[in-house]
Amino acid sequence: MQILVQKFGGTSVQDKQSREHVINHIEKAVIDGFKLVVVVSALGRRPSAYATDSLLDLVDFPEHSITSRELDMLMACGEIISSVVLSNELKKKSIKSVALTGAQAGILTNADYNQAKIKEVNPTRIQNEFKQYDVVVVAGFQGKNALGELTTLGRGGSDTSAAALGAALKASRIEIFTDVNGIMTADPRVVKNARALDIVSYREICNLAYQGAKVIHPRAVEIAMHAKVPILVRSTYEKSGGTLVTTETSKTLGVDVSDRLVTGIAHLANISQIKVQTKEKEAYRMQSEVFRAMADAGISIDFINIYPTGVVYTVPDVQTKKATAILKENGFKPNVMKDCTKVSVVGAGMTGVPGVASRIVQALTGQGVQILQSADSHTTIWVLIPNKDVYKAVNALHEEFNLSRESTILHDFLTER
Ligand code: ASP
Ligand code: MG
Repeated sequence: MQILVQKFGGTSVQDKQSREHVINHIEKAVIDGFKLVVVVSALGRRPSAYATDSLLDLVDFPEHSITSRELDMLMACGEIISSVVLSNELKKKSIKSVALTGAQAGILTNADYNQAKIKEVNPTRIQNEFKQYDVVVVAGFQGKNALGELTTLGRGGSDTSAAALGAALKASRIEIFTDVNGIMTADPRVVKNARALDIVSYREICNLAYQGAKVIHPRAVEIAMHAKVPILVRSTYEKSGGTLVTTETSKTLGVDVSDRLVTGIAHLANISQIKVQTKEKEAYRMQSEVFRAMADAGISIDFINIYPTGVVYTVPDVQTKKATAILKENGFKPNVMKDCTKVSVVGAGMTGVPGVASRIVQALTGQGVQILQSADSHTTIWVLIPNKDVYKAVNALHEEFNLSRESTILHDFLTER
């Protein structure tokens, strides 16, 4: 039995017209002989009545008076409604389908309401349903905890549901349907000739997704990567195409992803750089106090550099006021620069190749872009720049690494797909 998981986001299921496209994709997969798990998000986006944000509006979120457990009961309704609505339309087309909540589909989570992590998936119920049905429609973004209470997985969590079900059922592929044509080389609103990538590695997309590329939840990628199930990110409104996410050394396509120096550029705006300096003999105390104060206040920090006379790190602009106040209370004099953007240059092939950082620096300084900070890992080089230079910076990098050019090695495979 070949199993395929297809996940459709909120805009894909928002109205009957969009759901026509959804149903066509499902029908095609059934005709191709697959058993299908279809994971759905809530219908549409605010002000659509059953969208997650509209449900939250009903209790004046975030000024609500209910518990996080009750909030999950409310939010879970959106995806449950969506699963039943789609199942109804599938049955009308004589496609044998059944709708299940996340809990009924065997998704077990921890007790962390609103942000629950999937602990285990028991696929027995779905496997049994496949004896009678071709399509099991599962409400995304939810599960149940050990007490049997409803839980939700954090915003964007339907991707994670799809990945977890794909992993547990050893699916042939997880298809993430969205309103763009796949994973782009850069944000198309910033780079005019950005294009959809044919193939990326799990690690590359994880880095892109954590750094601002919004097409897929990074936790979903991690789950699929561990289970070695390929993901295809594709458009609901196109019959083919999309970006295949697979292992770096996958030869299934006759292509080695690690041949490519740079794959894409992501950026995350509106963050602040905070610097705290001190005399060298005071440094140990200061360094541990600063980070402890941030941790105690629940402020998540990033881009951390520690040097003998100081520390520098970033926080989202929305946290800057709080972070600065705490530092001052502790007797420090922070130097704060708001309105910065973190630009990530991601590529599995950059490992061990000399000159990548130098090309990045030259491309940016050549455009007069000030680099405030940098960091690097095996597959990513990050730079912090002022928000106002984003357009210049991302375009210069896109150009420097020739990202608008179609890769020819993939062409043969793609025409077959
Ligand atoms: N409906 C949920 C949200 O808006 C989950 C999802 O769509 O993935 O975050
Ligand atoms: Mg999403």
